[in-house]
Amino acid sequence: MSVLSLNNVKKSYKLGDGSEFPVLKGINVSFDKGELVSIIGESGSGKSTLMNIIGGLDSKFEGEVLVDGKNIGAFTEKELDIYRKNKIGFIFQDYNLLPSLNVWENIVLPLGLDNKKVDDNYVMVIIKTISIEDKLKNLPNALSGGQKQRVAIARALASRPSIILADEPTGNLDSRTELEVIALLKTCVTKYGQTLVMITHDET
Ligand code: ADP
Ligand code: MG
Repeated sequence: MSVLSLNNVKKSYKLGDGSEFPVLKGINVSFDKGELVSIIGESGSGKSTLMNIIGGLDSKFEGEVLVDGKNIGAFTEKELDIYRKNKIGFIFQDYNLLPSLNVWENIVLPLGLDNKKVDDNYVMVIIKTISIEDKLKNLPNALSGGQKQRVAIARALASRPSIILADEPTGNLDSRTELEVIALLKTCVTKYGQTLVMITHDET
């Protein structure tokens, strides 16, 4: 059964001069539990736009996004908030780390927001897999681009969300770390039955 399906999703951006710029022109796709799906497309083709809609960050679209059979387009702000916190782990292309919180705090922040008990063991497994255990007290501005990306990955995975949305999650990593991150994401799918939707430029 599909956890997530899109029916005829359309999205245009309104430009400064009042005109509409169409980006998504009727997307139909569905994702199963425990499925890994890659979205490949050239820069500017609307991949991040699609992710923002699926992730409940942009509710100005036409068509339906059904999650467990419920249309998120009809959610109130509060329902959307709960959806984002409980269902979705979002790995942002530009990381979106909070600058005043250290690495550990950034990673467990979504858990704290939701008053979920932090599963320290699980979070540490993620942290060790992506090799940032010696940076937990650093603030984001004291990290390299690749390290920030790894923190963003750990944060998205920490709550073990049923749907992981990853917007070019390995774009800033060296090839060894990239392999480890991909292996970790695959484990999420195979071992924990999470659904992974990943934007990538890398066809391999
Ligand atoms: P991708 O992630 O595939 O590179 P995006 O989804 O970020 O592409 O953008 C798709 C298109 O929409 C691009 O042409 C981009 O310039 C345009 N776009 C993105 N955000 C906005 C916005 N807020 N207002 C107007 N145009 C936008
Ligand atoms: Mg993008």
